Amino acid sequence: MIKKIRTVLISKVFQESKNIKTISFNVNSLLKKYSSEYYTPTPGEFLMVWVPGVDEIPISLSNYDESGDWSITIKKVGECTKALFNLQEGDKIGIRGPYGNGFKIPVDCEEKSLIFIFCGCIVIAPLIPLIFKLNKLEKKFIVIEGVKSENEIIFRDYLEEFLIENESLYISTNDGSYGYKGFATNLFNLILEEETKEGNRINHVFSCGPEKMMYELFLICEKKNIPFQTSLERVMRCGFGICGSCVLDPSGIRVCIEGPVFDSKILRTCTDFGKYNRDFSGKKYKI
Ligand SMILES: Cc1cc2nc3c(=O)[nH]c(=O)nc-3n(C[C@H](O)[C@H](O)[C@H](O)COP(=O)(O)OP(=O)(O)OC[C@H]3O[C@@H](n4cnc5c(N)ncnc54)[C@H](O)[C@@H]3O)c2cc1C
Repeated sequence: MIKKIRTVLISKVFQESKNIKTISFNVNSLLKKYSSEYYTPTPGEFLMVWVPGVDEIPISLSNYDESGDWSITIKKVGECTKALFNLQEGDKIGIRGPYGNGFKIPVDCEEKSLIFIFCGCIVIAPLIPLIFKLNKLEKKFIVIEGVKSENEIIFRDYLEEFLIENESLYISTNDGSYGYKGFATNLFNLILEEETKEGNRINHVFSCGPEKMMYELFLICEKKNIPFQTSLERVMRCGFGICGSCVLDPSGIRVCIEGPVFDSKILRTCTDFGKYNRDFSGKKYKI
């Protein structure tokens, strides 16, 4: 783990779609110098990424390998993500982390037991390392990617490479320009029905996306008694539990320390989930 901000050189920039880019860099020398042992991230962990002269923001790791090549995938939404989006190969950024808990993969995956990966509205980045890990572990899983329109589908070639063959990638678009026309949660309900008819048991749902969508998905899983994990995105300043920007009511758990991935057991007790968020001053607002 890199505890203080350290500078890395951007080695590759790849444009995924109009507003999304993946930025890669190598952390091998940093890990050797500043980490006591070689650090392998867990799917779902995030970095605090500093853009010199602009700001520092939390961004999930969208890829990493043994050679120390790490990637982040950013959507341009405001000042700092826009600045990241405009960076080129050879530019420098600061990173610290990875932080957070990451997804927990269930060990008890018997035959006829399926895992779902649900990516809502292009928030797929933290789930890519999870897909790789499940594939390596030879777990049976289905990926649902829900976007507004075909031009927003990201990582398509990447995912199709090993998922289409197994008929395990489903895409929904709100406007019907690709795949299923309608909301990804409706598509999820349809696939659930089919799989249950065929006698398959749903072992787990891993998800990431806009919180209202995640809340809807959580309610479906609760009704059908399906274990659920989701990664929450909240405003964060420090990333290591001091600033309090990302606390959830009523227990005060922090998204940066106890999360960003939460399971059904915790989400059931969390009155903020799907209903309230906090702004940069800590004030709550309805979502
Ligand atoms: C654990 C975690 C992992 C994340 N992973 C990714 C990722 O892989 N890729 C990615 O593109 N983004 C990710 N985000 C969201 C990202 O941090 C925000 O989009 C970013 O902080 C916005 O900064 P900005 O200066 O560009 O926008 P600002 O100008 O600060 O704000 C623009 C808009 O984004 C909203 N916003 C600001 N901060 C956040 C936040 N932390 N979460 C949600 N909305 C926010 C603001 O309310 C405003 O509506 C992650 C957030 C968290 C907490």
